Amino acid sequence: MHMARLEADVETILFRREQIERRVRELAREIAAVYEVEEGGLTLVPILSGSIIFLADLIRELPVKMKIALVQISAYPGATTRAGKPRTIMQLSGDVRGRHVLVVDDIFDTGGTIRAVHAMIREHQPASLRTAVLLRKPAKAPPDVQVDFVGFDIEDLFVVGYGLDFDDLYRNLPHIGVLRPELMP
Ligand code: 5GP
Ligand code: MG
Repeated sequence: MHMARLEADVETILFRREQIERRVRELAREIAAVYEVEEGGLTLVPILSGSIIFLADLIRELPVKMKIALVQISAYPGATTRAGKPRTIMQLSGDVRGRHVLVVDDIFDTGGTIRAVHAMIREHQPASLRTAVLLRKPAKAPPDVQVDFVGFDIEDLFVVGYGLDFDDLYRNLPHIGVLRPELMP
């Protein structure tokens, strides 16, 4: 049997890789402008696994000295497109006390994941706490969770690609799109 081709499963592409690339470069400039004027060290906290592609592209456009501390949270276990309660799979891998912290995530949906990560980080008394997300669904974003840098606002659709998965698949799709409905129960 042949290996299945990724793009055949995608019904609509919302953002093509070139458009994502341009927006990530702009975001990096916005972020660099903020941290260039801060005193002290920067630590990025990417939320695994969805943020990996965004993180890799973003940090290579950020000419700022930084450390990285990983955290892993899962809100969509397995083959589901309905958000569950965020579960901590892996605690913060580095010390963020007294550091300027930038949380990096793929998507800000109901906000449960970022709320949980913010609470975890605040316990360690960082010098500051900001958040960058590539995507946001404004229809669902709650007012009590603040994010500082947003790549694109999108409708309330379940999207895959550029790090975002469905059942752990499609993270390597270079675009961001919506799957054919028959693939998502
Ligand atoms: P929240 O906790 O804000 O509801 O959801 C955030 C997490 O759920 C994200 O980090 C992401 O992993 C996952 N998620 C939310 N919306 C989507 C989506 O449209 N597609 C995919 N693949 N994951 C999503
Ligand atoms: Mg995630």
